[in-house]
Amino acid sequence: MASSACHPLTQGGFEKSSPSVMACKNPRLCRRVLVDPPKVRGQTDDDQVKGRDMTEQLRESMDYDVVIVGAGPAGLSAAIRLKQLNADLEVVVLEKGSEVGAHILSGAVLDPSGLDTLLLDWRSMGAPINVPVKHDKFYFLGPAGKVRIPNWPMPPLMSNHGNYIVSMGNVCRWMAEQAEGLGVEIFPGMAASEVVWGEDGRVAGVVAGEFGKNADGTPGPNYEPGMELRGKYVLLGEGARGSLSKQVIAKFGLDDDAEPAKFGLGMKEIWEVDPDKHREGTVTHTMGWPLGRNAGGWQLHLPS
Ligand SMILES: Cc1cc2nc3c(=O)[nH]c(=O)nc-3n(C[C@H](O)[C@H](O)[C@H](O)COP(=O)(O)OP(=O)(O)OC[C@H]3O[C@@H](n4cnc5c(N)ncnc54)[C@H](O)[C@@H]3O)c2cc1C
Repeated sequence: MASSACHPLTQGGFEKSSPSVMACKNPRLCRRVLVDPPKVRGQTDDDQVKGRDMTEQLRESMDYDVVIVGAGPAGLSAAIRLKQLNADLEVVVLEKGSEVGAHILSGAVLDPSGLDTLLLDWRSMGAPINVPVKHDKFYFLGPAGKVRIPNWPMPPLMSNHGNYIVSMGNVCRWMAEQAEGLGVEIFPGMAASEVVWGEDGRVAGVVAGEFGKNADGTPGPNYEPGMELRGKYVLLGEGARGSLSKQVIAKFGLDDDAEPAKFGLGMKEIWEVDPDKHREGTVTHTMGWPLGRNAGGWQLHLPS
């Protein structure tokens, strides 16, 4: 059985880093982790804890200036900007999708003003952003048909003049190429599963590449403890409801004075349509049928 003491400078040995993994309390000096054994069939959580004989494993670690979680538009923009500001910074981006773009919603209307600031010459850099919005159309739908709503009473927010219809997955792949060209390291297929807390309670890094957990979160027979990626700064670009972001929000009470988050339910599909019905550059917004007055939809006519 692994000893409950760890590094000599550590007072008290190990502490819980997740329900069934304990990490050395002094991770700056020691990266040993204790992992619960796989559960035997029929064994309860209590039985497992009573007969606990945790396996000791070493979690490797790498140090960076900035660790970014998530290769979405936010994470990749941040990585590019950091390298533009200081080419010597060591920046890593972790992406849980098998490749950059794999988890990005595919169709989008893109306002290029952010890109104009980030990569001024994006138009001559092969960016997959080449279908300008030509028409915005609004319809109220009912069981019997549609009524077109004129564009003039619509708020400016609903005007897509100057915007582009893109595949965001492709845009992110292209942004990843730009980031790598600047020296950013991107690790796809690496989900960040835990925050690494520093001794002073700050976020010191993340654990990534932890594999082989059972569905209930306990380590399976092929459990790999992953590695720690430590950064002077850690940027969580996980998108909405990120698992690490939730931990950090809870620990520091970041939502204490905030309105509760609001969510809508939606579905997105990519359709291949009859070329006669395809109007490249058209954005159609709908309200009403079949879902009622508080729901709607849109169609984006992507590049052919
Ligand atoms: C249905 C829908 C339609 C939309 N349409 C538009 C539109 O037309 N135009 C527009 O401007 N915006 C649109 N948006 C909003 C837009 O998608 C978001 O604002 C934008 O994607 C946010 O970017 P992000 O980088 O913060 O997060 P995301 O795009 O969500 O990217 C997060 C990335 O982080 C990865 N990740 C998450 N957790 C981890 C982890 N623990 N470890 C490693 N990787 C992780 C994910 O796999 C993903 O690649 C739409 C949103 C929705 C839901």
